Amino acid sequence: MSEFHYANGQLCAERVALNKVAERFATPAYVYSRAAIESQWHAYDDALAERQHLICYAVKANSNLAVLSLLAELGSGFDIVSVGELERVLKAGGDPSKIVFSGVGKRTDEIKRALDVKIKCFNVESLSELSRLDQIAAEKNLIAKVSLRINPDVDAETHPYISTGLKETKFGIAYDRALESYIQARDMTNIDVVGIDCHIGSQITTIAPYIDALGKLLDMVSELRANNIELQHIDVGGGLGIRYQDESPPAPQELIKAVCDTIADTSYEILLEPGRSIVGNAAVLLTRVEYIKENSGRNFAIVDAAMNDMLRPALYDAWLSILTVNEQNSAAVAAYDIVGPVCESGDFIGLNRELSLQEGDLLAIQSAGAYGFTMSSNYNTRPRAVEVMIDGSEMIEVRRRETVAELMEGESTL
Ligand SMILES: *Cc1c(COP(=O)(O)O)cnc(C)c1O
Repeated sequence: MSEFHYANGQLCAERVALNKVAERFATPAYVYSRAAIESQWHAYDDALAERQHLICYAVKANSNLAVLSLLAELGSGFDIVSVGELERVLKAGGDPSKIVFSGVGKRTDEIKRALDVKIKCFNVESLSELSRLDQIAAEKNLIAKVSLRINPDVDAETHPYISTGLKETKFGIAYDRALESYIQARDMTNIDVVGIDCHIGSQITTIAPYIDALGKLLDMVSELRANNIELQHIDVGGGLGIRYQDESPPAPQELIKAVCDTIADTSYEILLEPGRSIVGNAAVLLTRVEYIKENSGRNFAIVDAAMNDMLRPALYDAWLSILTVNEQNSAAVAAYDIVGPVCESGDFIGLNRELSLQEGDLLAIQSAGAYGFTMSSNYNTRPRAVEVMIDGSEMIEVRRRETVAELMEGESTL
């Protein structure tokens, strides 16, 4: 059973009706299901039970402390891309020895902090980064553990903005430079080479690109062995897609089975960095219809959530399912553009949706758990939404709604 379902004519999250959440916390509101997050994480972790492994949840998908702390409690590792995310993981009780640090532009202060807390490894994306890391580690008299992020030049067949494994992107070290990079890394005094990684994109809906990329990593691993470089882990990145509309992405178990079959005759620790597939379908964005209007034959439902709350439709042309919280409405069904109040024509949540609507109705924008709140902004001086975690029949406010006064803190007049 999905954690989001209708009961007694009302859309619920676990055992809580969403209209109760709106009553208590107002709208717009991000509403998470604890059970949904936990079961997706377990889908990965259980499937890897037979191998030495670590699931490194990609924090950028959703970095709320409640989400991070429940994953930390399950024993999860974390994939971070900034010192800000590092501090969040530490604050949430995450184990630094289970953190991998990705990203093309790690600053010196970020590297220092990560070295001090002794993270599991740096996923290094260039030779310049490698030498900077070696130098900083030397100053601190520490050894930096590294994995090199190899760009396998495979097409993840996803939106161009979230395709990261093609050789013309900014990501990773080019495949044909990988061997020399590893040899340089091996010869650096304050670097310990422990792994190899890749991350080919996001919202990937087939297994084939993963296996292509993994095949290339394995070829490289053999070349490295021939050069006396022995690794401890292989990290196949994240990126598994979820169902937004009619996609049918493989389940984590299927991906993992294919990965494990491919590396069956090795004993490397296996790392994965899933983000979207753990939290994406574990949340809805709850919003209320403020106005209904018609312009030149088009029907608009203007809601109180906007592109600052949920950027994905504007940024990626993403399609999100929109449900009425009341299962049955008396109003006639019509095709509506569901739009926000922000002064941009790109400010839409969904276009041309057949819905029965009237002013004051609550809507639930589905699949809002990943790259939802974390991409939200204060554009139009709109405070960011409240975040609520549902746990059985409990609703827990895990981030209160911002206030306008907070938005002006730190600013001054002349
Ligand atoms: C964004 C990212 C991930 C997670 O991607 P999802 O599509 O959310 O699973 C994993 N690894 C790296 C390096 C990333 O940049």
